[in-house]
Amino acid sequence: LLQLSVPLNFIGFVYREIRQGLTDIEQMFDLLEVEAEVKDRPDAEALQIRQGSISFKDVHFAYDEDRPILKGLSFDVPAGKTVAIVGPSGAGKSTISRLLYRFYDVQEGAITIDGQDVREVTQQSLRCAIGMVPQDTVLFNDTIAYNIRYGRPSATDEEVSAAAEVAQIGTFIRALPHGFDTMVGERGLKLSGGEKQRVAIARTILKAPPILILDEATSALDTTTEQEIQSALDIVSKNRTTLVIAHRLSTVIGADEIIVLRDGKIAERGTHADLLAADGLYASMWNRQREATQAEEHLRQVRDSD
Ligand code: ADP
Ligand code: MG
Repeated sequence: LLQLSVPLNFIGFVYREIRQGLTDIEQMFDLLEVEAEVKDRPDAEALQIRQGSISFKDVHFAYDEDRPILKGLSFDVPAGKTVAIVGPSGAGKSTISRLLYRFYDVQEGAITIDGQDVREVTQQSLRCAIGMVPQDTVLFNDTIAYNIRYGRPSATDEEVSAAAEVAQIGTFIRALPHGFDTMVGERGLKLSGGEKQRVAIARTILKAPPILILDEATSALDTTTEQEIQSALDIVSKNRTTLVIAHRLSTVIGADEIIVLRDGKIAERGTHADLLAADGLYASMWNRQREATQAEEHLRQVRDSD
């Protein structure tokens, strides 16, 4: 009965995983629960991507009725541009990405892509058009090559390896005892948060979607890893409509627009320079993060000189 309520493409996905004996059952049910929230309309048609512009119009959303998370959110991500969402933890930033990917439906308002409401198109076509680099990448218990190729199953070995290079993880993979054939995941080699994120970036590079959602890792990455990830992300997001959820403000300086979310509403919006000049919430977040970074640097110097 449970299976009847999930979309066919997802059953295909689960089936493939079961067949290959890879799936962590718990993880599968987590996925099932999320997937089962929304269904295709009987008359759903495939999303037609023209330029790939995204529009949120007066979006309201709550996971539980009595606790609204987004309270009337409106913004656009013009085709090919990058819009960053920043704000305190729990503000609803990741929720925005889940709504765009349609893990949940909005309760009021609408989200459209090139004028088409995400609720009216097939989930398969929607998810085909969007590449998501999530906050916590879950890897399949399979080889690293499988995990990257998942972005486009027809990709050749050369394409998989090229994507890994662009994602700045090629050198790391080639140094592993079995290279791209190394088993990863719960029952294989454990990768760090930054390594997993780069695998997800490589997967997205292979998928080459018109729309990108990047939910940056919260975990404290060292400066080198952060720079490597950032340069990989800059490459993927170039000329793609990109929604980036940023925890580190240093990564959004170049965004076409920065939206500061607080209590489910837009508190401030503008470019990095606009927001610094406004001397409000963003400016105080920026100063706080800069001080924290400087303190970290200082600590490291003290340690290194010992
Ligand atoms: P952010 O990414 O800005 O840190 P989220 O969008 O993840 O915030 O979450 C916003 C709020 O919604 C948080 O208070 C969080 O606890 C809550 N929340 C997130 N996911 C769920 C869920 N599946 N069910 C109920 N509440 C949730
Ligand atoms: Mg989040």
